[in-house]
Amino acid sequence: MTNWQDMEKEYYMPTFTRIPVTLVKGEGLKVWDDNGKEYLDFVAGIAVNVLGHCHPALTQAICEQAGTLVHTSSLYYTIPQLKLAELLVKNSVLNKVFFCNSGAEANEGALKLARQYGKRKLNGANEIITTFNSFHGRTLMTLAATGQPKFQEPYKPMPGGFINVEYNNIEAIKKATTKKTCAIMLEPIQGEGGVNVADEDYFKKVRAWCDEKGILLILDEIQTGIGRTGPLFGYELYGVEPDIITLAKGLGGGFPIGVFMAKDAASVFEAGDHGSTFGGNPLACAAGYAVLKYILDNDVLSNAKKVGYHLAYKLEQMKTQFDFVTEVRGSGLLIAMQFDRDIAQDVLSACLSEGLLINKLKPNAIRFVPPLVVSRADVDEAMNILYKVLSNI
Ligand SMILES: *Cc1c(COP(=O)(O)O)cnc(C)c1O
Repeated sequence: MTNWQDMEKEYYMPTFTRIPVTLVKGEGLKVWDDNGKEYLDFVAGIAVNVLGHCHPALTQAICEQAGTLVHTSSLYYTIPQLKLAELLVKNSVLNKVFFCNSGAEANEGALKLARQYGKRKLNGANEIITTFNSFHGRTLMTLAATGQPKFQEPYKPMPGGFINVEYNNIEAIKKATTKKTCAIMLEPIQGEGGVNVADEDYFKKVRAWCDEKGILLILDEIQTGIGRTGPLFGYELYGVEPDIITLAKGLGGGFPIGVFMAKDAASVFEAGDHGSTFGGNPLACAAGYAVLKYILDNDVLSNAKKVGYHLAYKLEQMKTQFDFVTEVRGSGLLIAMQFDRDIAQDVLSACLSEGLLINKLKPNAIRFVPPLVVSRADVDEAMNILYKVLSNI
């Protein structure tokens, strides 16, 4: 039998610290490795497979569109692109969309849009305020936006014009704002940076500040969007309306697609200002449409809220049972468990051998981001495994 893990060593750039499992098949909450071992998937491709694996609604949409029209470029009108654009706009507070192929690309586009806005409406203002421990992507521009020096270090010089401030601190934003500021970019909940939840009124204060200064509020909803935190979009948690949002991860349910969306007033791109060969192609958009339509038509958001609450409750229970569990935080189905010591890798490995996939968020924290169609029974099964694992730590 082929040793896939040796093959990776030989042919793939060693940038990923992979978990020693080769996954070959998935269905619903379950995935299987090449030895036929079954796992319950509470990672969902890092908050991506919102309908679980190989959901018939998504598989059918991809297959049908693959047999109809895959790619044309945006030189032409195509129907799936326009249908998805309409569905996104009608279910959000944003008015215009631009499709691309990943999260970083969505943020890259949003940042360009903000700079163009600065050029056209704010006397050339081009600085963008972002936060420490944010994560906005791996392109140079989005790395510069990402307030984590460890990701930037090898690739200096970084593109300029980004100012990092403390998250959840409105005074820091106020202090950093100058005549050169065109936008503030934030995650509704910092995902990769630790599932860090802001105070309830933080976003309201940031919104008010942006209004006062006439600058744009960009929300990076690549992780929080498409129901991950409970509501369809993270901004709904705080009752604020952003000027620009970005989406990717959950949108295609596993099919690569990203989008940035803007209010009419912030939608300043003109012909030639931005582009993409693949962005918005019929196949990706048919996938995105199928996922979003299924979520809306089947009240998947209620399920995510209800089961997310159950998951948080179960984790909180374990916090009272194990003294090394110090915190459970998050919203909806984006939840982290914090330990007082660096045991995340051990917990992950033990869960793996028991047939549960979880995500290591930090050396001392794990993350749960299961499909939004996860059931209470799935949660109970996963939590029984986790309980057993934590009991043996
Ligand atoms: C994952 C993520 C990104 C990057 O998305 P890619 O598709 O990996 O480029 C950007 N921002 C946030 C908040 C993310 O969670």
